[in-house]
Amino acid sequence: MANVEQTQKAHVLVVPYPAQGHINPMLQFSKRLASKGIKTTLSPTIYLAKSMHSNTIPTHYGPPIQIRPISDGYDEGGFGQAESTGVYLDSLRDSGSRTLAELISKLNEEGDPVQAVIYDGFTSWALDVAKRAGLVTAIFFTQSCSINSVYYHVQRGLIQLPLSGTVSVPGVPELQPWEAPSYMHKYGSYPYWFDVIKSQFGNIDQADWVLCNIFYEMEKEAVDWMSELWKVRTIGPTVPSYYLDKRLENDKDYSMQLIQPDIALCTNWLDTKPKGSVIYVSFGSMAELTDEQFDELSQGLQECGQSFLWVVRQSEQSKLPKDFVTKTGDKGLVVSWSSQLEVLAHVAIGCFLTHCGFNSVLEALCLGVPVVGVPQWTDQPTNAKFVEDVWKIGLRVKVDEEGIARKEEVVECIREVMEGEKSVEIRKNADLWKKVAREAIDDGGSSDKNIDEFVASLV
Ligand code: UDP
Repeated sequence: MANVEQTQKAHVLVVPYPAQGHINPMLQFSKRLASKGIKTTLSPTIYLAKSMHSNTIPTHYGPPIQIRPISDGYDEGGFGQAESTGVYLDSLRDSGSRTLAELISKLNEEGDPVQAVIYDGFTSWALDVAKRAGLVTAIFFTQSCSINSVYYHVQRGLIQLPLSGTVSVPGVPELQPWEAPSYMHKYGSYPYWFDVIKSQFGNIDQADWVLCNIFYEMEKEAVDWMSELWKVRTIGPTVPSYYLDKRLENDKDYSMQLIQPDIALCTNWLDTKPKGSVIYVSFGSMAELTDEQFDELSQGLQECGQSFLWVVRQSEQSKLPKDFVTKTGDKGLVVSWSSQLEVLAHVAIGCFLTHCGFNSVLEALCLGVPVVGVPQWTDQPTNAKFVEDVWKIGLRVKVDEEGIARKEEVVECIREVMEGEKSVEIRKNADLWKKVAREAIDDGGSSDKNIDEFVASLV
């Protein structure tokens, strides 16, 4: 390791928003930087860092990733300890800005200064802190570039809200109102999150780099449009190397699970199922479904006749129908968290019923798994549109006027994706995207070259 550390080319601070879907891609990007000789220090919150049990993540291919947390003001309980979303986000900004500035100074005093800060779009205040410290800055987007185009136009007042019709912005196919992000379609919902979303674009013009966790082929038009405004580089997918180019030794998982999965339970159960027969169901780390939606999904999964592995987070489990698990028997397995990549990569998986969180969609693309989209909120409706109409790797479940995906629709979409007329085409496309994703991050691929360029600029 001493040799590796001696060859360290530069030191970069990486600041993710404290949630699983943000830490995963930024930590993975840190590993890519390490593989190119850059030292990274990752700054989750103090509360989340406690779940790591170590202050370094060893890499076998470069400098280890150092963990130096900042504070969100809730060191004992994180988001769950705050009275409300608004109170938490204000505290994260205020305590986060202060402790980030202190960390930058401390690293200077320790003789290990950073040259650049890569900050999550959701922590746009970090840009101001980094600028004040005279550092190079890079915003890191954990959402799609099409979504960037939509939100940019909202933030600059170029889209009138509430929506009165379709959404037309550069680089993006026309969106029906229900295909637009929920903050626009259901105007007034989750106002604090909508403010965070918009704030990504408030100071972006000052960022030296704009890094996007996609690969160019996924969204050429949106990337080209963004590139007219900023120094944009696509650097994804940040899915662990084992599932893509295999160039980073031992990079098989995201290294920081906020909830511990029971890996053996899932794998042993999947091992008993035939190839391509299981539906993997997950709504990610944040979405909260209504009791009625749980009822419809439960009935749909029981009626479709396929086996399923369903991730229902602990906080959501009381919404499952009372006798659901007993009635399902060996046909279904309900777990509170999974090692999603291992599950998606298992040969028994036939499709992924997902809320279309951007990481989940990207993982499906990289692993070649067909998708049934049941989007819930935020950018998920737009991601689901891309799944069906642009990448053509799956279908979206239609919702009724109450916004509920009814069991008949769920069953119909699963059947179509698994064995219907469209399934052949969908499978073919899924295989194709898997290949393109791998090529993009592999030696000399579009994302690999972009990472090299970014690294060269830091040295
Ligand atoms: N994930 C996981 N196990 C689960 C469910 C999700 O490891 O049981 C991971 C998943 O692989 C993804 C992240 O959690 O990387 C969720 O991010 P996404 O953007 O899909 O959704 P969010 O949680 O942000 O809504």
